[in-house]
Amino acid sequence: MRKFARYPIVINYNLHTQLRTRSEEVRLHEARRYQEERQLSIQTNTTSDSKIENNLWKKEIDQYETTIYQCLQKIESNPVGRMVLGLLNKQTTVWIIPKSDNDLKKCNCAQTGPLNYDIQKDGSYARGAGSGDTVIQFRAELGNDTLFHELVHAYRYSYKKFQPMTISVHTERLSGSQSTEEFLAHQMETIYLSQGHRSLTMDYTWAWVSGKKDNIRFSAG
Ligand SMILES: [Zn+2]
Repeated sequence: MRKFARYPIVINYNLHTQLRTRSEEVRLHEARRYQEERQLSIQTNTTSDSKIENNLWKKEIDQYETTIYQCLQKIESNPVGRMVLGLLNKQTTVWIIPKSDNDLKKCNCAQTGPLNYDIQKDGSYARGAGSGDTVIQFRAELGNDTLFHELVHAYRYSYKKFQPMTISVHTERLSGSQSTEEFLAHQMETIYLSQGHRSLTMDYTWAWVSGKKDNIRFSAG
């Protein structure tokens, strides 16, 4: 477990703890024991793998946490990145945890949600509503621009401002309903890339940048 500089961010390698508790979370969910399910999820996301098997996973832990630390340093070296890092509510904590290979296969993306998420009345698995501390599921290969994007979401959650509204988007490549929170995060990501003199993945009207196929990646959840 590693704190990032002076920011309210903790990098926590907990992959094996996640894999081990997942079936129990599903079991609690199916039994409609939602409070206990959330409690277990909070515990999993804030517990390091160093706590299991006599620190057997030490090498993986060091590797992940060092790489993510460097990724955050890269974000901090960008003025727009530094601004968003500085805006995170210091009364809260942003947890950055790894995403399993299986989860990555399902969606090659990062994901941000509140740690103490609101339990859905309809019994669904959705965990995106809530505020305060956040959890970002992230792998370094997704890139620092993606982590920056997730930090924008985390900032919104940290001040209880994450309130997605559905909007209709029609561009050459994209048509359908989107969330205003995604719009904001994508615009910020575009400014971040621009500030770093890097090519954009999307323009300022939410259209993919043409002719840059290799850079196109709808990278965030
Ligand atoms: Zn997003």
